Amino acid sequence: MVGAADPRRGGLRTGGRRRGPGRPGGADRRNAMKVRIDAGLCQGHGRCYDLAPDLFGEDDEGYGTVLGDGTVPADGEQDARRAAANCPERAITVLKEAQT
Ligand code: SF4
Repeated sequence: MVGAADPRRGGLRTGGRRRGPGRPGGADRRNAMKVRIDAGLCQGHGRCYDLAPDLFGEDDEGYGTVLGDGTVPADGEQDARRAAANCPERAITVLKEAQT
């Protein structure tokens, strides 16, 4: 599988439910996203944890790791997509939580 950024974006909600303010620093359940790293593709360039240190870390050898369970907070989508777009190995995948 080739990892790549998912270019889909959160759509506008036109249903009857009002959208309330998101949980501070938390993921909106309806728009929750996760990031993954394909360890078989990662070459340890480090761009992910340089660009999005709240989402990615590094192991002892400098390979990228996903922090926690990979859930992207509501205000972290741009960082997740930037990291995925800048991974030279296309090892990062950004997924809607329902697709995980
Ligand atoms: S930018 Fe890509 S190749 Fe580099 S450490 Fe992160 S996941 Fe691995």
